[in-house]
Amino acid sequence: MTRHYNFCAGPAALPVAVLERAQAELLDFQGRGLSVMEMSHRSDEFVAIAERAESDFRHLLGVPDNYRVLFLQGGASMQFAMLPMNLLGQGGSGNFIQTGIWGKKALSEAKRLGFACHVAASSEANGHMMVPQLDEIDVSDDAAYLHYTSNETIGGLEFDYTPHVQRTDGANVPLVCDMSSNILSGPIDVSEFGVIYAGAQKNIGPAGLTMVVVRDDLVGKARATIPSLFDYKMLAEAGSMVNTPPTYAWYLAGLVFEWLKNDIGGLAEMDAMNQRKADKLYAAIDSSAFYSNPIAKHNRSRMNVPFVLADSALDKAFLQQADAAGLLNLKGHRSVGGMRASLYNAVPESAVDALIAFMADFEQTRG
Ligand SMILES: *Cc1c(COP(=O)(O)O)cnc(C)c1O
Repeated sequence: MTRHYNFCAGPAALPVAVLERAQAELLDFQGRGLSVMEMSHRSDEFVAIAERAESDFRHLLGVPDNYRVLFLQGGASMQFAMLPMNLLGQGGSGNFIQTGIWGKKALSEAKRLGFACHVAASSEANGHMMVPQLDEIDVSDDAAYLHYTSNETIGGLEFDYTPHVQRTDGANVPLVCDMSSNILSGPIDVSEFGVIYAGAQKNIGPAGLTMVVVRDDLVGKARATIPSLFDYKMLAEAGSMVNTPPTYAWYLAGLVFEWLKNDIGGLAEMDAMNQRKADKLYAAIDSSAFYSNPIAKHNRSRMNVPFVLADSALDKAFLQQADAAGLLNLKGHRSVGGMRASLYNAVPESAVDALIAFMADFEQTRG
């Protein structure tokens, strides 16, 4: 068996140690004679798995006690709808910073549901090459929250600061952040946020699980007419088990949290490793006239590195040869073309080294 290097943007690579542990426990979970997939979500065994995962997640990110951690289904995209339903149930408007495709989808979903929306800042004019500065963010007087995408997965654009803003009346505007593609890539201060959410399939675990971290004062503001499965309050009160949760994905996420804690040593260590990986790849791109990445240096994503070849006629050969060399899923998103290397937590530094060596070789022989 050979494991290739996987640069997929999502569903993405998982740590080999996690897959091996899942394999070892697959048929007989800790002597119980059944797999986690076959357990009742109400069983003592599964409740222990669920609680352990939540407590490890809280420990890793330093989630304060006045935040609920939810393990949901529906993907980050379902949060695009659940957020306005939960936070605008008593009025006000959703404010949005637009830095790329995902933020745009979050806005259009809120609009589609008929909620008041305001674009507080956008990097569209610069082609999403640089995130807006703090003083360019203009929230509306009725802003109930400010939504932004900390890392735009497709464009490869990452915030290098937390955009705290106040309304003109001095009120703080709760920050809502789509962290799907950079959650757990390094330490953050959760207390700076009202809501953090992330689809699991980038940096947490397999697809099918979505994590939501929500501050207590933002829970319970939804209209009573929304479906119970969309209501943060009902979900929080039921421990994310209003109905059957994605049990196996929850278990695998728990294994990833354990791996981060025990094998990696925590998010500060993960942060340093991610920085090293990204620095190396950007340095290789910048030192070549054949490869390029146009994003402003201080906003370059550490997780998703898009790059183009000087001659796009060579794209196909690049991808074919990379694939043959065991470097998988380097094709850029269909909306932008070119290449994209996703360097999530589970992608080892050796993968980046192999990619850089391949790129240098390709440039010499074909470029
Ligand atoms: C992948 C991604 C999404 C969409 O996630 P789904 O779980 O497929 O809905 C949303 N936002 C960002 C930043 C993403 O990377």
